[in-house]
Amino acid sequence: MSADLVQRLENAIETVPNFPHDGIMFRDITPIFLDHLLYADVILNLAEFSRGKVDAVCGIESRGYLFGIAVAVAIGVPFILIRKKGKLPPPFVAEKYDLEYGSAEIEMREGQLKPGQRVLIHDDLLATGGTTEAAARLVQKQGATVSQFSFLIGLRGLQGEQKLAQFDAEIHKILE
Ligand code: AMP
Repeated sequence: MSADLVQRLENAIETVPNFPHDGIMFRDITPIFLDHLLYADVILNLAEFSRGKVDAVCGIESRGYLFGIAVAVAIGVPFILIRKKGKLPPPFVAEKYDLEYGSAEIEMREGQLKPGQRVLIHDDLLATGGTTEAAARLVQKQGATVSQFSFLIGLRGLQGEQKLAQFDAEIHKILE
């Protein structure tokens, strides 16, 4: 991977301490969209990782859409939205997962993913891996295979990658 892209991304992403809660270092990726050449290079990097290896891209709401759709178009495969509970009309399939306090649920329109398809699950950032793990179970529930995960950022020390090891899929992070 180009060291230059890593450096440009590191320069663009802003770290905001104590947002949205005390102790969280929030990584704000929105400055990437101020630089169309940087955005294009991020998409090229993600597309290169997945081209020819997947039949569909699933993006996680909402920042996973910002890059996932462009990657799907670049590599010529369908894009499927994984949404938070209550946003999609029926029929949909759902998966519950645990949060630090309480639980959450994600959903996908039924029938958009086909059995046997090889899937890339994309999100902007991997932290504990809880959201991505639930997304992977949602994909498996429909008879498809999770072949790849990609992220702009993988946070170290939160065991996210360990949680995804069970899926035996390739993992790509541009930044750590
Ligand atoms: P997790 O399920 O813990 O891996 O959390 C991943 C989701 O939460 C992603 O959709 C991220 O966009 C968001 N997220 C978690 N931690 C951060 C952080 N430090 N900065 C920005 N977004 C975060």
